[in-house]
Amino acid sequence: MAAMGFGKSGEQQTAAHASGVGPPEEAICRQRLVRLLEIPKAELHVHLEGSIEPATLQEIDPSLSLAEIEAHTTYEDFAGFLRAYVWVNKRLETPEHYALALRRLASTLSAQGVVYAEITLSAGVILWKGQDLEAIYSALWEETRRAPIEIRWILDAIRQFGAEAARPVVEFAARARQRGVVAFGIGGDEVRGPAREFAEVFHEARAAGLRLTCHAGETAGSESVREALAIGAERIGHGIAAIEDEALMAELRERAIPLEVCVTSNVRTGVVASPATHPLRRLYERGVPVLINTDDPALFGCTLASEYELAGRLGFSETELEELAEASLRFAFAEPGR
Ligand SMILES: [Zn+2]
Repeated sequence: MAAMGFGKSGEQQTAAHASGVGPPEEAICRQRLVRLLEIPKAELHVHLEGSIEPATLQEIDPSLSLAEIEAHTTYEDFAGFLRAYVWVNKRLETPEHYALALRRLASTLSAQGVVYAEITLSAGVILWKGQDLEAIYSALWEETRRAPIEIRWILDAIRQFGAEAARPVVEFAARARQRGVVAFGIGGDEVRGPAREFAEVFHEARAAGLRLTCHAGETAGSESVREALAIGAERIGHGIAAIEDEALMAELRERAIPLEVCVTSNVRTGVVASPATHPLRRLYERGVPVLINTDDPALFGCTLASEYELAGRLGFSETELEELAEASLRFAFAEPGR
């Protein structure tokens, strides 16, 4: 536990131990988590559909048992994770289901010191399910306006569905700019849906005033990140493959393009073997802008505060974690507070 990034003084450790709250290490972790909860921060990479806890799923569909939910959301690898994500997504049948999911996520984020969030909505999946995107987004916008934190939206299309399927997502996102949509992004299978195929769609999104983000370099190599940059991405979802490419890291550093890093996500989907071998710290040491995020907290069993705490264990000092929290607000697509 001594290897954990920062800790309390010996005196405080002894005091915690003497107070009977458990072993000093545990007390240190708890104290640190409390401090991390208090730092004002932004969550910039979280999928609404991946944030739905089993209890909320049961509220949405009372016929579901916890065992059934667990069976459908347990997975071994990236493909299995995608199946779990789709299964949860299919439980969302009405605008009210989406609004409930947002209500729960907003309150969870608020309890962790998150003052601003850009939440990704899989608009591409809503259209694929044949649902009414306008009705769903209207319900979300209503909920957004009464949320305890400031929320903006990123509408996401699915890479493997192709560029034509992404076009209606861009068109809707452009129309919803006055109702909290700030950006357009793509996610999904980097190999079956290469970024270059979305060049025109990204161009249209930018022309419509949308900011651009792109999942890349998560399951594929650094070339995928380069393609995302080539079509205009201003932030990269994951992007951890950049660690294998010096020139790319230099470009990210010079152009101040941040990677939305999600450590637990990468470990749970099997793209990184363990937290200890995750490139987060090495990317940071090379000067690449990095941000701490959860991706799909319910499916990965993490919270934003626990991701900061994990970063602390991977070598980030308390001051560095505070700087990462500041960066999360600075790299937001809208100006928090406006
Ligand atoms: Zn993601």
